[in-house]
Amino acid sequence: MSQAYLAFGANLGDRFQAWMFALSQLHNTPGCKVVGYSHLYETEPVGGPEQPMFLNGAIALETELSPESLLRRIQELEHQHGRTRDVHWGPRTLDLDILLYDDLVLNLEAPLPLVLPHPRMNDRRFVLQPLCDLASDHKHPTLGRTWGELLLACPDTSSVLPYRELSSHPGHEPNVTSS
Ligand code: ADP
Ligand code: MG
Repeated sequence: MSQAYLAFGANLGDRFQAWMFALSQLHNTPGCKVVGYSHLYETEPVGGPEQPMFLNGAIALETELSPESLLRRIQELEHQHGRTRDVHWGPRTLDLDILLYDDLVLNLEAPLPLVLPHPRMNDRRFVLQPLCDLASDHKHPTLGRTWGELLLACPDTSSVLPYRELSSHPGHEPNVTSS
C-alpha cells in the first residue's frame, strides 16, 4: 500500500461540486482510499491567461494503484467532469495532479508524461498551503526540506485565502429558523 498526495484545482463551473466529485470518485475507486483532505482555498490564478479565481485543495490517498494507473484514473475523472485541454494553464472544471507518491522520484515520458515529485509544487503557494494542512512535517524527497519549510520559503506572493463553503453555497447552509 502506498501513500499519495494529490492537488485539486477548479475555476470553472461549480467548483465546490468538483471537489465533492473528486473526493467521492477517488474514494470509490478500487485500490484507492481517501485518508485525508485539506481545507479549501480561494486562490489567484498563477500563469496562463486572465481567468476566474481557483478553488484549491489537497487530498491524501492510500493506494494500491501504480503511479501510472493513478495518473490514468485522475485524467479519467478530469475528463468525466468536463475537462478540456484547449489553453495551456487555462481555466478548468477539474485539475488533479499527483504531487507525491511515497518518496518516489520519477521522470517518465511514455506512455503518459509523469514527473514525481510534481516539479512545480515547491514554488506554488496554492499547492503548499493545503498540503501543509495534511502534514507540514513531511520531508520533500529531493529538496530535503519539510513541506512547512517549503511554504515558509515559498516566493509566490499570489493570494491564497480560506474558502467559506457555507456562505457561498446557500444550498448547503444549515437550517436556521427565525422566531
Ligand atoms: P497542469 O496541471 O500543469 O496545469 P495538465 O493538467 O494539463 O497541466 O497536465 C499536463 C500533463 O502533465 C499531462 O499530460 C500529464 O501526463 C503530465 N504530468 C506530469 N507529471 C504529472 C503529475 N505529477 N501529475 C499530473 N500530471 C502530470
Ligand atoms: Mg494537471
